[in-house]
Amino acid sequence: DELISQIAAGEVVERPASVVRELVDNALDAGATQIQLKLMAGGVRAIVVEDDGLGIPLEELPLALKRHATSKIRSLDELESVATMGFRGEALAAISSVAEMAVLSRFDGAPHAHRLDARSGELQPAARARGTSVEVRELFFSTPARRKFLKTDATELAHCVEAVRRHALARPDVGFTIWHEGKLVEQWRAASSEARLKDVLGEDFMAESRPVFAESGPLRIYGRAGLPEAARSRADMQYVYVNGRYVRDKLIAHGIRSAYEDVLHGHRQPCYVLFIEIAPDRVDVNVHPTKIEVRFRDGREIHQKVRYAVQDALALSRS
Ligand code: ADP
Ligand code: MG
Repeated sequence: DELISQIAAGEVVERPASVVRELVDNALDAGATQIQLKLMAGGVRAIVVEDDGLGIPLEELPLALKRHATSKIRSLDELESVATMGFRGEALAAISSVAEMAVLSRFDGAPHAHRLDARSGELQPAARARGTSVEVRELFFSTPARRKFLKTDATELAHCVEAVRRHALARPDVGFTIWHEGKLVEQWRAASSEARLKDVLGEDFMAESRPVFAESGPLRIYGRAGLPEAARSRADMQYVYVNGRYVRDKLIAHGIRSAYEDVLHGHRQPCYVLFIEIAPDRVDVNVHPTKIEVRFRDGREIHQKVRYAVQDALALSRS
């Protein structure tokens, strides 16, 4: 069983940033308005995510660490229309099989908090305001082969920050703070979408990009597309969200790419942030444990709409 969890964990947890992504997902699902991330040694030594969300009821605390325990979905039908980020109930279980973990939570209205140590199962009263802290230490301590694949602390930290950036772009209403080794790395206060884009991606990106907006029936595409002259040598500023979820989708990437086709040459990469809103039954998000891929019912239509939306934003002729 331990082995099965560790194999399953391999699909979910690749590096500290995977843990960060899952924990921030959970904090957002819990309705947090402030999320604080504290890292040590690029997240390998420690990842602590603190939120001010609803918290976990005492009796559900031990359950939260069990595989396929999720409080977010009660039936298979609901899988079709998941609005929350997590729904497989495997993240916490997977993480606790490859790291030391403790969950400290105070449920809404509870007189105090409780701390559960994953390894010992020990449950103790603790002090905390409403919300949840998840502490993950010594990632891959029992699987040295996996630990060897990790890069330098600076690189792992950069990946962790990027994981939070992806959430932060989609949730301007939530404040995010990132600390590393006790030093403040990033702070994005709750803001309008426009202000959040500027805070996270910088003023240069805002100056060198144009707003995207297209609507057809229940399909909405919006965000910002970088001008061709602002293209980069690396594809490091490309963000696509489907119904609020960050995705990496070849079809969408290709649709965007083809909008730039006559104006970008060589290996230059466009910069963009695109939010796609689509009826939940037109898209399948349950295809991969990392939840980063999606499958559209009407792929061709999406491809074309994305392409036109970007061309219109850049005032390029539709070819
Ligand atoms: P999933 O998110 O897919 O349900 P997880 O393993 O990520 O599975 O989390 C298991 C359960 O633990 C969640 O369904 C939720 O009930 C609870 N949980 C985890 N993190 C938090 C949090 N930050 N705030 C409130 N509840 C949480
Ligand atoms: Mg989750």
